[in-house]
Formats: sequence, C-alpha cells, structure tokens
Amino acid sequence: MIAANNPSLKSWVEVPPNSDFPIQNLPFGIFKTENLSPRVGVRIGNYVLDLKSLFVLGYLENTPFELSDFESPFLNQLMKTGKEGIRQLRNRISKLLNVNQKDLQSKQHHLEQVLIAIDNVEMCMPIQIGDYTDFYSSKEHATNVGMMFRDPANALLPNWLWIPVGYHGRASTVILSGQNIHRPKGQIKPNPEDNPIFAPSRMLDFELETAFITFEGKALGDSISTNEAEEFIFGKCLFNDWSARDIQSWEYVPLGPFLSKNFASSISPWIVTLDALQPFKVSGPIQDPAVLSYLEFEGEKSYDIHLEVLIQPEEKTESVICKSNYKYMYWNMSQQLAHHTVNGCNIRCGDMMGSGTISGSTPDSFGSMLELTWKGTKPLLLNDGTERKFIQDNDTVIMRGYCKNENVRIGFGEVKAKILPAK
Ligand code: CA
Repeated sequence: MIAANNPSLKSWVEVPPNSDFPIQNLPFGIFKTENLSPRVGVRIGNYVLDLKSLFVLGYLENTPFELSDFESPFLNQLMKTGKEGIRQLRNRISKLLNVNQKDLQSKQHHLEQVLIAIDNVEMCMPIQIGDYTDFYSSKEHATNVGMMFRDPANALLPNWLWIPVGYHGRASTVILSGQNIHRPKGQIKPNPEDNPIFAPSRMLDFELETAFITFEGKALGDSISTNEAEEFIFGKCLFNDWSARDIQSWEYVPLGPFLSKNFASSISPWIVTLDALQPFKVSGPIQDPAVLSYLEFEGEKSYDIHLEVLIQPEEKTESVICKSNYKYMYWNMSQQLAHHTVNGCNIRCGDMMGSGTISGSTPDSFGSMLELTWKGTKPLLLNDGTERKFIQDNDTVIMRGYCKNENVRIGFGEVKAKILPAK
C-alpha cells in the first residue's frame, strides 16, 4: 500500500466530517493570495498547504525537487519527476501532517506561514495543458446520442466496440472552475428544411466528464501498453466539456465536433493523484466482443467515483439533475492511453484526456441535458418550479465527485461556471 493512503492516518489539521480532502487525499493545485504569487499548494480540510514556503523552511529536503518546482505557476515542472517523485512528495506531506509527527505541528510560527485558510486563497489554472484529447467511452452515452442524432436501430457505430473513439480537442479554451462563459454563437439549423442561420446556440449543454493529466510519455514512435499506462498518469479532475448541440449536429459530419465544443471546457482546480484513488479501483463493464490484444489488460482498471450535476438558476437554490459514476465507463484510462499511443503518437507532461460523457443506464444517470431531456422533449423540473430543456443564460452548472468506502472519503471538490448571455 502507498504509505499516504493508509486509512488509519489522522491529521493534526482539522478536517470536517464528509470533507473531500482528508489526509488520505492531498491533491495538488496552484493558488495565490493577495500577498503570495502563484505557487504549488496541497489541499487538506479547509486549508491549503503552501509547498513553496514549506520548501524554503526546509521541510522538503531529500526529495527530488528544487525551489523553482514549487514557485512555478503550473504543476508541469513538479510533474517532471514522474510518478515516483510525486509519490515521494505526497508521502512526505502526509508525514508532516500526521497527528503523531511533531516537526511541523509544534512550530506555530511556521504554521502561520505554510497553512492558509481556503477562503483566503484564489485558485489558479493548475496545469499548462499542451494537448487535449477527448474520448467517447461511455457505451450508454454513445448509444443515446446515436439514437437521437442518427438511427435508433443502429445507435452504436460498428467501430465503437473495437476502438476507444476520441478526437483532438483544443487546449486554449480549457478554463478553470469559476470562470464564466458567454453563450457561443454559430451556424444552426432550427428548421431542418431551411438553410442554416447564424445565431446564439439554443441547445447549450454540459457534458459530465472527468479528465486525466499525463506525465511525460515516451519518444515519438513508441507506444505505452495498458500495463504501463497508469505509470504515466498524474491524476484526475472533474471536467465539464461544454457543448452546443445545435451547432454540433450541423457541423460534425464528416470530421467530428469543432466549434460546438471548443468555446470552453471547465476543469476543477485540484488534481487528485491516481495514487490517492488506488483504494477505489473496481472492474469495469464486461467488454464484448473481446478487444484486440493491445487493448487487453490485467486487474482492475476502473474507478468507483460518484458524480453529480446540479443546476443553479440566478439567485435560486441548486437542483441535482444527474447522479452518475465513473465506473460505468466501457473503456478505461489504460486502454485509452494505450490506444492513443499505439500508432507512435507521443504524449507529453501536462496533456489532458477527457473521459467522454459519463452516462449510466438509468435516465437519472445520463451525463448531459441532451440525454436527460431527450433532446428537449422531456424538460427537467428544477426546485424553483422552472423547467429546463437545455442550459439558460445565468444558469450555473456545478459538478461534484467523490470516492467513498467504509474508511475514507476522497473527493474532487467541484467544477462550476455560469452561462452569460451571448456577446
Ligand atoms: Ca466530450
């Protein structure tokens, strides 16, 4: 077992019950305050541990890191040490925060420097994302979309059960939770018989996803196997892959989504390490037909992550509109990465891979408005009595996620953004 994952560990930092951030989590992010420049932090309870100050005070000696790794405005530099370096760092932080360790705990003047209340920090974009790839790995989602956009009798295209289908997205529009988004404009065809018009999207949607961030991969021309894949994955965050369905349905043939997807994609600020998620590994769905040999894998490669989506209209309360789980995904991360690199495509430190929309088999577990309202034919009723077919101006969409067993709860926090009227 990874030392920092020990469920019996307790921290001297107060962690509220049901917090997403017990000592067994210790996710990484980038934060700043009024007085502190952007730097690396680790979350514990309702505090952020300032790793730059911790390093300066000498608490991170004999780790493979230097000051510049912690005062960098992105995690990429820290991630250059790969899985082993990050594991060593997380284990060291776990020790420093352990209730039985006095080193840091007993030095009040140091605590005031390194431990900052979450309300006093501003989170920053954690990763300088090089390339962003989005998969399409939920069988339920692909089937639902196929039924609505194409042919109900042949909803899944013939390649879907053989290939972890994906496309190359756009990194420049991946944004941090809390940054609001203007409704996108584009070509839509409200009346299928008429020519397209240029207008704000009328079918603005979210996609409930998670994303994983990679360490530096192999050289161009080499491949990463399913058994090696997790060594190349730093961690995961929540991911809302905003989608304009009316723009999408007109533009996506033959090359796939373009402007319907690249106006914004929101991520949560804390990267939960794949190490921290190890206790929550589960088997994924049975894959039938049997996959080609390069997609075969050993052991449990899926993760039990509870996910939910909420809509909050302006100045109203939140309504939960979807409860799903990452474990429903047909293709796992190891298969996605093996497939991505099987042709020799290289991945780099700080690449991001979206899971694809995470839908379950029941209507309340569908991961998009498109599916939840069945293309607007079954509007959802919110707590305030209003109905939604798609996302309206001034709606805030919130996604939350956590893993839980009898001992520990490890959470991701949330990703949220408000939709502003079209510019
Ligand atoms: Ca997507």
